[in-house]
Amino acid sequence: MPRQNPPDNHPARLSLISRHLAPVYPINTPYAVERLPDTIDTSLLPKTQSRSLSTSPKMSFQPAHPTLLIPGPIEFDDAVLQSMSHFSESHVSAGFVATFGETLSMLRKLFQTSDPASQPFVLSGSGTLGWDLVAANLIEPGEDVLVLGTGYFSDGFADCLRVYGANVTELKAPVGTKPQLPEIEKALSEKKYKAITVTHVDTSTGVLSELQQLSVLVHRISPDTLIIVDGVCSVACEEIDFDAWGLDGVVTASQKAIGCPAGLSISMFSGRAMKTAQNRKTPPASYFASMKNWTPIMQNYEAKKPSYFATPSPQLIHALHTALSQILVKPVSERFAAHKAASDRIKKAITDLGLKQVAANRDEQAHGMTAIYLPEGVKGANLLPILAKKGVVFAGGIHKEIAAKYIRFGHMGVSVLDPKRNDIDHAIKSLKEALAECGYKGA
Ligand SMILES: *Cc1c(COP(=O)(O)O)cnc(C)c1O
Repeated sequence: MPRQNPPDNHPARLSLISRHLAPVYPINTPYAVERLPDTIDTSLLPKTQSRSLSTSPKMSFQPAHPTLLIPGPIEFDDAVLQSMSHFSESHVSAGFVATFGETLSMLRKLFQTSDPASQPFVLSGSGTLGWDLVAANLIEPGEDVLVLGTGYFSDGFADCLRVYGANVTELKAPVGTKPQLPEIEKALSEKKYKAITVTHVDTSTGVLSELQQLSVLVHRISPDTLIIVDGVCSVACEEIDFDAWGLDGVVTASQKAIGCPAGLSISMFSGRAMKTAQNRKTPPASYFASMKNWTPIMQNYEAKKPSYFATPSPQLIHALHTALSQILVKPVSERFAAHKAASDRIKKAITDLGLKQVAANRDEQAHGMTAIYLPEGVKGANLLPILAKKGVVFAGGIHKEIAAKYIRFGHMGVSVLDPKRNDIDHAIKSLKEALAECGYKGA
C-alpha cells in the first residue's frame, strides 16, 4: 500500500508553504533541518494548510505515491524537498553564497577529508558530468587510463574518457564480479597509467569494489597513477575515507544515497589531482566542465565571497544543504552501518525466497542496492507492474548481457534510515506476493 497522507494534501502546498518560510526562519542555519512541520510558526500560514501541518506532525506532505526503490533517484525527505521551495535569490547574494559555502564545507566531512588541498565541486548536471570533469581535466589526449570493468557504468566511464582522447585499457571482470588485485597488479606493472578508474558500486550489477586495498596496491606499484572513483551509487551509503585511503577523485550525484533531487554533479579531488589539472599542457577540452573555470568559483563560495562563472541552481543547492545537514547530524560511520544492516536483512530475505543475486560473492555485494536474478519463468515485464500496483517501484536490468534476467532494488537514504517509514519490509513482502502472483512457488 502506498504511504498514507493527509486527505486534503496537494503538491501545490509545497510552494505555498515556502513563501512563508522566509520571515520565520533565518536562512543558512546549517543544522536546523527539522523545519517542518512541527516547528513552523503556523500563524503565518493560511488556515487550510496549518490544519494538517499542526495536527499531523508525523505525516508527509508529499502526495501518496508508490515508493521509489530504484538505485536512484531515491525517496526524498520532506525537509529536503521543502527547502527547494525557497524564494528566488541572486546566486551572488550574501545569503546564497553562505549556503553554498557551507554546502561545500559539509562535503569535506561526508568524504572524510581534512586536507585543505582537497577541492570539492558542486556543478549543475547529473552524475555523468563527473566523468567529463575527470576526462577533460585530469587526462590529456593520448594518455593511458586503466578502467576496472564491472558493468554498464564502468563502460560508460571508459566511453567518456575516449571522447576526450584518452587511451583506455579496460580490465573486464565476468558479470557479477570485479577485477581482482593480482590482475590489476599485472596490468599496472605492464604499462604506466595516468589514472585508474574504479566504479565503487556498479549500479548495473550491485557489485561493490573494495577501495582501500586497491589504493595500497596502486600506491605501491604505480605511485604516480591517479586513483579515480565513480562513487555515484556509493557516496553516503558506503564508507569512503578520502584522505586515509589516498584517493585522488571521487565523483557522485545528488539523487542517489545523498537523497537530494537530481541535477547536481558532486565531486572531491585531491591536491595532487588539482595540480595535475593546473599543470596540464593542453587546455581542457570542455568549457563548462573546466576545472580552471570552476576552481576559483568553488574556492570563493567556500570563503563566503560572491563569484560567477555560470549560474548555479540556488534551489538545488538549498536542497543539498539540507540533505548534508541531515546526514552530518550523526557520525557518517553510523550511516554506513545502518545501510549495511538493512542490506544484510534484504539479502537474507532474497536468499530465503530462493533467489540469487547478480553479485554472488558476499564481500562483493553493495549495501545500497541489490540486483536480483528472476526465477525461471518469471519475467521482469510482468513482475515490475505487479509490484508497482502494490506501491513499490523497482528497476529493471541494464547490464547488456543479462538485462532481461534480473531486477534491481535500491535501498538508500530515508527508506532505510527513517524509522517512521516501512519501505523495506513493505518491499520485501510485496516482492514475495508479486512473485507468487507470477506463479513462482518459492524456495
Ligand atoms: C547513476 C550512475 C551514474 C550516472 O549518473 P547520472 O546522474 O544518471 O548521470 C554513473 N555511475 C554510477 C555508478 C551510477 O550509479
